[in-house]
Amino acid sequence: MSQDVLETLCDLVRLPSVNPMGRDLPPEVAWESRVTDYLQERFQQLELPWQRQTVAPGRDNILARLDGDPPREQGGSLLMFQAHQDTVPVDGMTIEPWAAEVRDGRVYGRGACDIKGGLACMLTALAQLAARRPPNRPTVLLACTVDEEYGFSGARKMVELWQPSSRIVPRPPDAAIVAEPTLLDVVVSHKGTARWQILTRGRAAHSSQPDAGSNAIYAMAPVLTALERYARTEVPHLANHPLLGHPTLSVGRIRGGISVNVVPDHCAIELDRRLVPGEDPRAAWQHVCDFLTTELPDLPLVFEEPYQSMPGLDGVRNRELAQRVGRISQACGGPGRPIGVPYGTDAPAFAQTGVPTVVCGPGDIAQAHTVDEWIAIDQLHVGAEFYYRLAAEWQGTI
Ligand SMILES: [Zn+2]
Repeated sequence: MSQDVLETLCDLVRLPSVNPMGRDLPPEVAWESRVTDYLQERFQQLELPWQRQTVAPGRDNILARLDGDPPREQGGSLLMFQAHQDTVPVDGMTIEPWAAEVRDGRVYGRGACDIKGGLACMLTALAQLAARRPPNRPTVLLACTVDEEYGFSGARKMVELWQPSSRIVPRPPDAAIVAEPTLLDVVVSHKGTARWQILTRGRAAHSSQPDAGSNAIYAMAPVLTALERYARTEVPHLANHPLLGHPTLSVGRIRGGISVNVVPDHCAIELDRRLVPGEDPRAAWQHVCDFLTTELPDLPLVFEEPYQSMPGLDGVRNRELAQRVGRISQACGGPGRPIGVPYGTDAPAFAQTGVPTVVCGPGDIAQAHTVDEWIAIDQLHVGAEFYYRLAAEWQGTI
């Protein structure tokens, strides 16, 4: 098992699958199709039924199914393993992102930790389950989504498959395990996000006669001051969560003007609102709009709709699953503690449909998205064993 998981990870790292995250990137590195094709080939080698689901041109989710004992039609459980195929971009990396260099007990490369390492572990576990066919195992789905790092559109689209007419996933899974680098702790809750732009408009003029124009950048200044105060004094009191604390708001980008000698006629800021479970992304957006409209009634602001939103993962329906996953993690030498984390994942897309969902995988989030991203080979071995045992030792329903 151990050799396979290392080779699989190196294969995956050598296939760039960068999420452009709103930018233009060369086709040699952008999008997930190389990874999708590789997964399809592996599923075909394992002789498992598989399905691609197009989310956007050139961007496909892919799923495979290993039937259980007893099969799901006779009351067997349906367990979903899920990992995303995309990675963040490679700007500023200090290592060769696609070389999959193995040294010092680590595999280096973009995605090695987040989350091609976890995907390699899930694929290896599936291959072992297919080879050994342990008795009383659940039907296992391996579901690989696109666009986790930016818009979560792959996970949102995937749940549309859970219909009686679907040949791969005729009903919702009984439980979902989302791979992210948690060092095999069990994430039961995490924050959600809402991101959007606010615009100010002005009137362009030559900068030698600024009074002839209307400066959109100046117009944004009171907006920023108000938002800074709002983030500090209002947002922390909007909600509270025992594991995650309070929500936050941050302005992360500002753009405006075309040249220093032109009075700018436009300015845009991007906001990042982190939600605690139970907060609705749209209500959070509306709250900011209402606040600014009240604070700055004379300023004609344009509030764009959120271009990304996903609620948090609440820990309500996943307690029993978390205990089960935690026990297997500990049996494999992991900590297996139920924890909350601030970052977002695909998990709420599944949890929102009522499927008990936790996030658990090998590798350390501290190495995700870094300039020298790596994962410890030890973590790969433990991760592959963990996912295998989770399915092989699954008992009864959840
Ligand atoms: Zn990830």
